[in-house]
Amino acid sequence: MPENSINVSILFENKNNVSPGLQERFQRLLKDYKTTLEHSHLDSSEIIILVAESRRWAVRALHQLRSNQRHFLKPVFLNFATPTDDFSALIDGFARPAESYQEFTTAFLPLVDLARELSRLSNISEHSTDVTFKEVLLLRFMLSRPAFQLFPERKISSSIGYSYPLANLLFNVNAGTEHSFLEELREANLLSVTLVDKVNLCPYCKHVQINFREVCPHCNSLKIREETTIHHFRCAYVSKETEYRQGHDLVCPKCAKVLRHIGVDYDKPSEVLWCEACNSNFSEPLLRCFCLNSGHIFPPEDTLLAEINEYKLSQEGRRAAQEGYLPSMGLMDIFKKQLGFYKNEVFQEFLRVEFLRCQRYKYSSTIATLSLLTAHQVLESELTTHTRQFREDFSAVLHSTFRSTDLFTDISSEKILILFSNTRAEAAQIAFERLHDELYQAFQVKIDLEYKTVDLAGAYENLESAWEQLNGIV
Ligand SMILES: [Zn+2]
Ligand SMILES: [Zn+2]
Ligand SMILES: [Zn+2]
Repeated sequence: MPENSINVSILFENKNNVSPGLQERFQRLLKDYKTTLEHSHLDSSEIIILVAESRRWAVRALHQLRSNQRHFLKPVFLNFATPTDDFSALIDGFARPAESYQEFTTAFLPLVDLARELSRLSNISEHSTDVTFKEVLLLRFMLSRPAFQLFPERKISSSIGYSYPLANLLFNVNAGTEHSFLEELREANLLSVTLVDKVNLCPYCKHVQINFREVCPHCNSLKIREETTIHHFRCAYVSKETEYRQGHDLVCPKCAKVLRHIGVDYDKPSEVLWCEACNSNFSEPLLRCFCLNSGHIFPPEDTLLAEINEYKLSQEGRRAAQEGYLPSMGLMDIFKKQLGFYKNEVFQEFLRVEFLRCQRYKYSSTIATLSLLTAHQVLESELTTHTRQFREDFSAVLHSTFRSTDLFTDISSEKILILFSNTRAEAAQIAFERLHDELYQAFQVKIDLEYKTVDLAGAYENLESAWEQLNGIV
């Protein structure tokens, strides 16, 4: 194989029907650009050329390539007489069979550069799960094709009403499900977004197919309609005009008086709705959502609002794509987001006041340090920590361990300071033991938490000596 040559596979829809012009095109390509044809070895190919006669075949071949991890990133060139827009996200270049060799090479050569660039990328980290592996592939696809963005396409069969064709093929999921992977990458700051739409989803099944309709506020019946209504002043009776009607006359069904003059005897309140089921009347119907997928009924304010975005690679995403692994969301970030940290100076002020109070009244509060270093290393090596699921689980553990009266600040990138007010040191230690147990329950990994506690009511001359005790200086 000549040095710097590129392996090219050509897949024909109909090998027996290749025009002499096309045959010549590929022979010249072989000679001029040091390409090696690998008809049978798709796996070792670096560029794939599709020679399609029908749209159907072209679509099927593209879907197969882009849903296969081994071929997903490869530059794909399409030879087809009538390419349309819906191919554009899946191919890297195309030419019509009738175009000149020069036109063809102009379209084809960028794929050679692309293949060379891809060959320089390092292997994807071995720790990756199937999903993270695919996420790195997606980031790399975007890295190697700088103009590429993931656009949402309207799709009625998608759970969220939109689909991202390339991501959908890669993750190989039901249309719409790929959205949560993309949002996860966005939350990890690997993708940046432009808002395109907001969709209302059913809170039970997260589907967009919701029917909004008005019902009776008393019995929830759908059988409501506006009817001309009469209010008899004399006896205050209110009912439908049909009930008053007796031939040409209007007669009150309650007091049997004849109604003669509108504005004097009676009036017709506007916009009165009647329920056929319970016969009540009202002016404001109730708006209710009916999920056409799961059948649940719920008020509009319960719908989940999801953002539909256009995605492009962020600076951090570029780095992750180059390095071949996804950064995990730091545990510290989750702590901060979930528990609300005080600025260091503010925390020190609380601590100073609390120390004086405890010393004076021999009242117990506990100051503690918690190091996240081991927890971080253990979780990182055992689990996929950049997922939304991990963040949710970890947040739930934090909320069930700590109380809203506990105060937090960070003293380094891995170390947290916690003030447990009105809590003895033993009780604070129990909280850490509970954290340990809950982490085990949630993630099935044993983590030796590194923490230290100091009782602020203890025999300390001043806060500094309590501080030294906490930091193991004495
Ligand atoms: Zn009703
Ligand atoms: Zn009356
Ligand atoms: Zn539903």
